[in-house]
Formats: sequence, structure tokens, C-alpha cells
Amino acid sequence: MSEYKKHITILGGGPAGMAVAFYAHEKGIEYSLFERSNRLGGNCITIEHNGFLFDSGAHRLHDKDPETTQIIKGLLGSELELIHVPSQIYREGRFIDFPLSPLNLLRFLGLFRFIHSAFQILYAKSKKNAVNEDFKSLVLHQYGKNIAELFLLHYTEKLWGKPADELSTEVAGKRLKGLNLTTFMLEAIQGKKRKTRHLDGSFYYPKYGIGAIFEKMQQHLNTGSIFLEHKVTSIRHENNRIKGIIVNDRKEHMVQELVCSLPLGVVLNILDPPPPFEILELAKRIEFRDIILLGFFLDKESVNNNGSMYFPSERYRFTRIYEPRNRSVHMSPKGKTSLMVEIPCQRNEPIWNQDESLLLNEIAQKLIEAKLFTEDELLDSCVYRVYNAYPILEKGYAERVKPIYAYLSLFKNLHLTGRNGLFSYTHIHDHMVNGREVIDRLCHE
Ligand SMILES: Cc1cc2nc3c(=O)[nH]c(=O)nc-3n(C[C@H](O)[C@H](O)[C@H](O)COP(=O)(O)OP(=O)(O)OC[C@H]3O[C@@H](n4cnc5c(N)ncnc54)[C@H](O)[C@@H]3O)c2cc1C
Repeated sequence: MSEYKKHITILGGGPAGMAVAFYAHEKGIEYSLFERSNRLGGNCITIEHNGFLFDSGAHRLHDKDPETTQIIKGLLGSELELIHVPSQIYREGRFIDFPLSPLNLLRFLGLFRFIHSAFQILYAKSKKNAVNEDFKSLVLHQYGKNIAELFLLHYTEKLWGKPADELSTEVAGKRLKGLNLTTFMLEAIQGKKRKTRHLDGSFYYPKYGIGAIFEKMQQHLNTGSIFLEHKVTSIRHENNRIKGIIVNDRKEHMVQELVCSLPLGVVLNILDPPPPFEILELAKRIEFRDIILLGFFLDKESVNNNGSMYFPSERYRFTRIYEPRNRSVHMSPKGKTSLMVEIPCQRNEPIWNQDESLLLNEIAQKLIEAKLFTEDELLDSCVYRVYNAYPILEKGYAERVKPIYAYLSLFKNLHLTGRNGLFSYTHIHDHMVNGREVIDRLCHE
């Protein structure tokens, strides 16, 4: 039990806010968590649709932080399973294993294109002084033109909505890190098993969807401290300290320490008094990517055995499809399956408001063409929108957000966390680590 006596106010009940609540609870620290919606989990929830379950995007729990894995195992017990599933890329009418490997590339490209691509990689690698200052130069240097264009550049541009040479190298996430020539060679020598283990194919997943993690966490926490349908509409400050928050434009709650996981732009816009003009101008350049998720519910046992299917071609508006049943059989009724299709976009693009039945029909036709199902097998479909799915990491973004963080750091009792609060491409385990660090820091102040 901690000696810490102050009360912590937490804004946002997504994975980041929940992580802070979890560690506060563990230390016996008093807290109140305010969440705008009527449930916890933020962009990491599981939705029920006519007997089918699906997640708000192709989620998996990466075993990257041993303490997080241990905690989640403790919360879910036998309802957490270790999954091994491959993923594939769909290109030119065919599936190819992901991550890419020399052998399947040879099969896909044919000998001539393969040798040409190999020379491109060697040539690109020979440029010792190449500067990888944006995503495009990074992948051209790593993979050469053919492979980069076939598999990486268009995909990334669809995902982030910007030309690849305007994107930070960080959009590669950790995924490209292991995907270099060394991995290629190891895989060629040791086979696919090593590749799957090394990169993307093994992960933990709850029996009833990713949202179960935060449902179990909610049950573990003190529910009297969690306030749903409490939208924070103003953050009041005075003399470099946050004094209170206004909820639902009405009630003020006084604040001692504030941990905030709301998107950076939202925080700046609800500060009272408002930040200086130049900070608000910088905030306008901070953008988030949204996702339209389309669900297709099918009268068939299985489509294929992929964890995810990636669609890098410009021919498709979507980037990724996943079959929830391949993460857990409990995600579909017996004998049935479903496909979830991710279309990254922004709220101000026409597609966001496009007629849903037209959009569903257009995408269903593409999936039928790709032979993922037939017209007769399609039982039902739905549309779900994911807001602020990714912070858009443009080249030079770190310099732009620096003055914003410098301004916010003036508030001594304000602590930021979360994917959109810290404006970083982070995951569940990162939020748990941040939550732990915030609470440790407060306890040692
Ligand atoms: C398609 C997709 C796939 C992903 N796959 C993985 C994966 O495989 N593994 C993994 O670990 N992670 C994955 N992630 C990342 C993970 O979902 C996010 O990192 C996580 O949801 C971010 O958590 P957060 O709490 O920072 O933000 P959010 O989840 O966005 O939560 C923020 C919360 O704040 C609330 N809020 C906003 N404004 C207010 C307000 N004014 N007042 C009160 N509450 C407010 C929101 O309602 C929301 O609940 C994926 C994300 C997406 C979109």
C-alpha cells in the first residue's frame, strides 16, 4: 500500500486511462476516471453483431512487456490463449506469405523479376551514405524499388493518407525492424517457423475478443471510481496548475493530479483559459487517421487460416482484412465466419459520409472477385467507425509537437499518456508501461 495521499483524476477510459486506473488501484491510490462513452476500452473493444463478435480493428496482444502479459494472464486466466496464425499479402490476384521471404518472393515474382529485385536491393544497400529521412527513402534503401512499390509504399500511403516521402520513418512501427536482409537469410535457412515466431504470427488473444481485457480490468477495479458518459468539456487552470475539469458542460470536479489520455488537439481546445495562439495554430496541424470498419458475416465455416490479409494495391480502398474466427473460434456462431475490412480515411473525406449500403456493396463485390466468399454465402453486413485510430506521423512531426509539449509541461500536475495523448504509434503493452511509470513517478514525487 502506498503512502501517496493525493487523488488522481484520469481522463479517458481507453487502454491508456485504464492502465493508470489499474496501477493506482494496485497501490491503493484514490482515483476517478471520466469516460465520454458508455463503455470502457476506447478503440480497443469487441462488438457483438447478431451472434458474431468482432474487434474495433485487427487487434492482438503482443507479448512485449512481461509484466503486462503477466497481469493480463492473471485477469483472464484460461480465457487468454496463445495463438499462432500466419498472415498473407494479396497482390496481383494471389496470396503471398507475410513477412516476405526470399522463397515465396521467388515463387511470386518469377525468376527474372526476382533477380532484378535482388539486384535492386543490393544496389540500394550499396549506397552507404543514403539518408533515411522519410518512409519512402527508408524502404527504397532497404528493399529496392520493385519490392517497395509492390508491397510497402502504396500500402503505407493508403494507411496514413499521405505521400510516403512526407511520412516519418516511425510509421514503419516495429514491423520493418526485423524485416531486413538478416531476417530474409535466416528464414531462407531455418524456414517459416522461425519467421512466424520472430515477427508477427504469435500473440495472445482472449477467447471472446480483445475487449475482454478491459472488461476484466473493469471488474477488477473499484467501479465507484469510474464515471461513464462523462464527457470532459473543459479543463480549468490557474497559476500553472490544473484546478478542475468540467464534465458534460455542467459540473466541476476539483483536481489534484490529472492524467490525460485524450487526443492532444482535444486537450488544447478545452483548456480554460486557452493556450497561446501559436500553440493552437500548431495543434491544427496535428492530424489523426480514422477507420471505417466493414463487417461481412458469412454462411461458411472458414475463409482461410490467415491472422490478417494485407492489400497493398491501389485497386483496393482497404488495407487489411481479418477473420475474427482465426483468433478465436468463439468469435462466430458454429459453422459460420466473418470478415472485417479496414478502410483508413479521415472524417473530412467523402467516403466517411458515403451511403453505407453502396460502400458495403462495392467492397463486397471486390471480396467476391478475390474469391473470399460468394454472393450466396453473404448473410449480413455492418459498418463501424473508429475515430482517431492513428496519429499521423508526418516527417518532422516531432519538431512540431515539441512546443506543444513544452507548453503543457508548464502545468506541474498534468501528466499525458495514450496513443493520441502522447502522439505516438503505441500499443496496449506501451500504455500499461506508461500507466505504471506515471503512478511510480507520482509516488516518488
Ligand atoms: C485498427 C487498429 C488495430 C490495432 N491493433 C492493435 C494490436 O494488435 N495490438 C495492440 O496492442 N494495439 C493495437 N491497436 C492500438 C490500440 O487500440 C490503441 O493503442 C489504443 O486503443 C489507444 O488507447 P488510448 O487509451 O490511448 O486511446 P483510445 O483507445 O482512443 O481511448 C481514449 C478514450 O478517451 C475517451 N475520450 C475522448 N474524449 C473524451 C472526453 N472529452 N471526455 C472523456 N473521455 C473522452 C474516448 O471515448 C476513449 O474511450 C490498434 C488500434 C487500431 C485502431
